Amino acid sequence: MFIELEAIFNNVGSSKRVDFSFTPEDEQLVSGSVDVRSAVENRAGIVTYSGKADFVLSAVCDRCAENFTRPETVEFEHVLVSELQSEDNDDFILVEGMKLDAESLVREDIILSLPTQLLCKQDCKGLCQLCGANLNYKQCGCKKPVDSRLAVLMQLLEDDY
Ligand SMILES: [Zn+2]
Ligand SMILES: [Zn+2]
Repeated sequence: MFIELEAIFNNVGSSKRVDFSFTPEDEQLVSGSVDVRSAVENRAGIVTYSGKADFVLSAVCDRCAENFTRPETVEFEHVLVSELQSEDNDDFILVEGMKLDAESLVREDIILSLPTQLLCKQDCKGLCQLCGANLNYKQCGCKKPVDSRLAVLMQLLEDDY
């Protein structure tokens, strides 16, 4: 999805709504399509591209190893420039040839928005370290492993008797 920006850059006060969907087939964390509702705007000479992307996150929980899916919304806002004023500014998106590759930009925003630890739910209880049971579904009854310093102490006590 490319957005033509020449008319926007050249007209202060102009704006354009751009809604589109795409299916990132090589992105395994996204199930199905991404629905984007967005707009480009020229406010007092500053051109911005902002909006929301709705998608379904599909992942394996880092704690309990179950597959899960969950609807997610990512909001984004970028300042667009047609040429870079100074080299060391990462805050601006440089638009080459007055065309914005909106799909690539939104895809990047989605990936950057994902947490490094993906959990099926915030309070996922994970797996029992002894028997591997999924503790979200049942209490397995395993005894918690005893702290090793405590184990030494208990061993000393037993030797005394
Ligand atoms: Zn989980
Ligand atoms: Zn267990």
